[in-house]
Amino acid sequence: MVLPIRLARKLHSARTWIALGVLAPIGMLLVSGLMLLDLRRDAWDKAEQTSRNLLQVIARDIARNAEIFDLSLQAVVDNLRVPGVDGLDPAIRQLVLFDRAATAQDMGVMLVIDERGDIAIDAGAFPPRKGNYADRDYFRAHKDRAGLGLYIGRPLISRLTGERMVPFSRRIAKPNGSFGGVVLGTLKLTYLSRLFDQIGLGKEGAINLYLRDGTRIMRQPYVDADIGANIAGSATFDHFVSRQSGSIVQTSVRDGVERYYAFTRIGELPLVLNVALSTKEIEAEWRTKAFVIGAIVLTLCGLTVALSLLFGRELRRRAAMEAELATLSRTDPLTGLANRRSFEEAFDRYRKDARRTGKPFSLLIVDADHFKRYNDRYGHTVGDEVLKGLARCLAASVHRPNDWVCRVGGEEFALLLPATDAAGALRVAEEVHGQVARLAIPSGGIGAGAVTVSIGIAAGLAELDLYGKADAALYEAKATGRNRTCLAPATEQENPDGRMLRLVSM
Ligand code: GH3
Ligand code: MG
Ligand code: MG
Repeated sequence: MVLPIRLARKLHSARTWIALGVLAPIGMLLVSGLMLLDLRRDAWDKAEQTSRNLLQVIARDIARNAEIFDLSLQAVVDNLRVPGVDGLDPAIRQLVLFDRAATAQDMGVMLVIDERGDIAIDAGAFPPRKGNYADRDYFRAHKDRAGLGLYIGRPLISRLTGERMVPFSRRIAKPNGSFGGVVLGTLKLTYLSRLFDQIGLGKEGAINLYLRDGTRIMRQPYVDADIGANIAGSATFDHFVSRQSGSIVQTSVRDGVERYYAFTRIGELPLVLNVALSTKEIEAEWRTKAFVIGAIVLTLCGLTVALSLLFGRELRRRAAMEAELATLSRTDPLTGLANRRSFEEAFDRYRKDARRTGKPFSLLIVDADHFKRYNDRYGHTVGDEVLKGLARCLAASVHRPNDWVCRVGGEEFALLLPATDAAGALRVAEEVHGQVARLAIPSGGIGAGAVTVSIGIAAGLAELDLYGKADAALYEAKATGRNRTCLAPATEQENPDGRMLRLVSM
């Protein structure tokens, strides 16, 4: 039983509603914040997964083609060593050395270059086209170092076809091991652009293929100036070459766009491939969602706060109104004194207090003498003024905080004096007579001394009929001439003859 009552009381408190109005939005914000973070994580997971898959597919394609390419080059190198091949008719020798791979769609040229750099055998033409390649870096590299194996050079423009190519080369060794030239196979860049173009990575996404020395071989979207550019030394590239594969978020040295890079080395080849997605584009969809959800949640929170504050204010207003009504219901509107209802409550309370503490309390009933005459002579309005004046006199006659002054009827007032014996009550009665004697109502032409009151006093612990006793004392005061105070007999023992003690004031 106690709990529901408490809960109901809490629900009626403005504070509870204001606290709810603040806590509920905080909760809502927290939950939606966590939800948005989760959605963002999902967007990133999706981007990471997509990049990893693309990277794998592209790297596998490049690795497979490079392997086929290299096998053709190795075949030429090996076949050149076969005894007798050297002495074959040049046309037959060309057929023996180059397999069908030399005519593949993406193969640019395939040449055997002698140790001076001149074309010795040309897979694409007989007699071989003329050309010297002694200045090319792959030629010099093989000439300077014997054990290079497969060498992939920087992208270049073919002297024979004018197309952009990536040179793949292997060293030809003479029987004594010395440099005997190179076998060159070039891979057309169109192979890479075709491969990359199939993939959509958003407006700011990119795919890059680098040599390990930082030279860009291909980029999608394709811009001519990007090919051959070297980004070695940049933080992004350093990260790419420092490990086999991984991912990193970096601002591009090329265009200043922040991207998420997933990168990998392609097998054992000196190639680094990356798939880059703009972080803005990764989060774009999430951002729109976050904006909409955020706007809705904030609006709801705002509404909740506003409604709770309004509700809280209304509850407060109602509580204030109720308090005011409660005060009004206990106040006499004419004099502003406590009214009869308030008197009865206080009377009850004081009786209980007196019984508990053992201290007597006094009740004074004050009645205006011949009040009817004032009304008759000066009119009701002046009569009211007299009543207000009397109320002021009574209020001025008591000094303790718990003394209670009430208007109990038309021109009848009561004073409740806790912890006050008959002697104290008599002193207060004297004070009342004194105050009333000085009361004048100038607007009604009533001078000081014209208004008088009679007072009946009953003092005691908690006699059953204290009010009746005080009333009887008042009656006695009226009957014996008015403008005086009568004290009801205290107890049988103290006042054996039971007679009313009459005290004449003035
Ligand atoms: P007594 O000395 O015996 O008390 O005579 P009284 O005239 O004072 O007593 P009575 O009870 O005969 O008359 C009380 C009058 O008080 C009646 C009524 O006209 C007047 N009265 C009661 N309430 C009000 C009030 O709120 N305003 C005014 N102006 N007069 C009131
Ligand atoms: Mg009277
Ligand atoms: Mg009266």
